[in-house]
Amino acid sequence: MKKIIFGCLALALLTGFSTGLSGCDVGSSSVSRSELKIGGKTMGTFYNIIVIGDYPGGQEQLRHEAEEVLDRVNREISFFDKNSELSKFNQHKSTEPFRVSQDVADVVIASLRAGKELDGAVDVTVGPLVNLWGFGHVKTETLPPTPDDSAIKAARKRIGLDKLHVSVGYSFAELKKDIPNLEVDLSTVGEGFGADKLAELMELRGIQNYMVSVAGAIRTKGLNSRGKDWVIAIEHPTAEQNVGQRLEVPVCTMGQAISTSGSYRNYKIDEKTGQRLSHIIDPATGKPITHHTVSVSVVGATALWTDAIDTGLMVMGSEAAIRFANERNMAIYTIVKEGNEFKAHYSRAMQKYLVCD
Ligand code: FAD
Repeated sequence: MKKIIFGCLALALLTGFSTGLSGCDVGSSSVSRSELKIGGKTMGTFYNIIVIGDYPGGQEQLRHEAEEVLDRVNREISFFDKNSELSKFNQHKSTEPFRVSQDVADVVIASLRAGKELDGAVDVTVGPLVNLWGFGHVKTETLPPTPDDSAIKAARKRIGLDKLHVSVGYSFAELKKDIPNLEVDLSTVGEGFGADKLAELMELRGIQNYMVSVAGAIRTKGLNSRGKDWVIAIEHPTAEQNVGQRLEVPVCTMGQAISTSGSYRNYKIDEKTGQRLSHIIDPATGKPITHHTVSVSVVGATALWTDAIDTGLMVMGSEAAIRFANERNMAIYTIVKEGNEFKAHYSRAMQKYLVCD
């Protein structure tokens, strides 16, 4: 039977929408081991690290090295830093190949793979549509409240994973676009990549028990300070959430990564129809999703992969996403608004993560 988190420090509010770090365990307490905790700002959001035991050089060295890793990720794949490698590729208005680092190539390869597996539901070239609907980097005030069909059609001509290519050789990596004005925004996968890079740092330093996160993308290994499995809280909205009430569903990670894509915080109301418009766009229609799935959490081996597919599964909606996950033995947890209630639906492989010792 599923137990409930007691006295759990869930950082869901700090980490954005969805999955939150819980530096506590479920059930009865046992002997505590010492832990180092740090956190800070990165990528327009927050990162957090908990190391059980010591870190070589101590807490300040941990912070220094973690922030070096995250700064590097920003320099590689930030859409917001106009000098990042990714921005330079976006500014490269040419169909000639463009040299990038192996890291950039790895993130693009994972994004293309996720897009292929999810039939284009997650598409890192979707930026023109995100902007058109007022959720991107172009300010909403300069846009019509609801784009018309011709604007959507024009934006759709500028997107498509089939227009983006990666080549990786022994000592080089290149990106190439089929149309000069194709733009790539890796924000939907970047937090997962950042969490994986922090996990890589922990491995390099020989840390066996840790939890690292960038926003809602989390990696765990080993056990927490009480010698128990790490527990992550998935935020579960309630009908009364406008007065600050929410549930937290404990997920025992078993050393896996977890990330969440959600739509109940970031949305606009269509002035004409009164319809709720999500910041998540269905590339097949060019429009925001309108179904009632409010979040999808994915548990898997790497945060890059879980973060790459959670947005696509959101586009698909709970029912199709769970069918997809069951066919592939994937662990996913979805929350759907049904009338005034928020109901959970999850795949078969998810069950084991919901029973904490
Ligand atoms: P997710 O659910 O992960 O993704 C949704 C977002 O992806 C949407 O908002 C939209 O932009 C896009 N999207 C919508 N539909 C699709 C689709 N079908 N397929 C693919 N993508 C889709 N933000 C800042 O404000 N300032 C910064 O300086 C900044 N720096 C960043 C640096 C890096 C390296 C990265 C990776 C991100 C940065 N961000 C920054 C962005 C930000 O913090 C979040 O990563 C971003 O808003 C997406 O996170 P999310 O969890 O809200 O959305």
